[in-house]
Amino acid sequence: MPYCTVCKIETDFEYDIALSNAEYLHYSCVLMLQMRKREIETALQWQKSQFVLSLFAPTEVDQQDVISEAEIEDLRVKLGKLESILSGVYDHLPCWPPDWEARREEIIRQNGSVCSHCEVEADVYLLHDIPVFEGGTNELDNLTLICAACYRGMYREVDIFGTSTLKASQSEFSEPFAEIQSAIENGQKIQFDYKKPSDRRWTTRVVIPERLFNIPNTRESGETLCVEGFCELRQDTRVFALGRMQELVVIED
Ligand SMILES: [Zn+2]
Ligand SMILES: [Zn+2]
Repeated sequence: MPYCTVCKIETDFEYDIALSNAEYLHYSCVLMLQMRKREIETALQWQKSQFVLSLFAPTEVDQQDVISEAEIEDLRVKLGKLESILSGVYDHLPCWPPDWEARREEIIRQNGSVCSHCEVEADVYLLHDIPVFEGGTNELDNLTLICAACYRGMYREVDIFGTSTLKASQSEFSEPFAEIQSAIENGQKIQFDYKKPSDRRWTTRVVIPERLFNIPNTRESGETLCVEGFCELRQDTRVFALGRMQELVVIED
């Protein structure tokens, strides 16, 4: 029988939660931790309101309700411990954790509100790198910020020879389109100079192209023809708009 990671008592794995790190958890134990956390938060909130009241209407404060600084500090320490146990449990919940928004804010605090895909500063969503159903965790290093345009692009695989909008892009970029298309088919790398509006200078990129697709524009109507591929400069998969490339060449090997 597996044991609960919180209370170390046996679990009945039919009814309890199987975490993504192969540990188990009583459903009742998470509820208990969450309730205890709320109790302490309420108690701290109450003390704060009593303090404010003591400044403006001291006669209204019942001195018996006021606890000492040491007791408040003690509650804060307990709250910190509970939060760290809960966040460890949430790291491995097999679903979106209740503190998802706090995780998004933490990553924005560390990296800025920048899309990891197109590197543009935008409103960003949080996504799992490895999805939970494939064993991915909710730990920060498995979470990625992504903008609305890239998010839609990911789930909107376009039949690259079928859509009329792509044909329009194709005619505008018919030469680079054909070159990249053939590089993908032949497993060749491409090289080009690239500069996003937010960049100060051009950088030369060597990319292993994987697919061509359209990203719907966020501000104006229409779409942007893009190539996704592994960027050797960034050592990661990136998306590049064909309209922002210069000096495109296929690297013959
Ligand atoms: Zn338990
Ligand atoms: Zn993006």
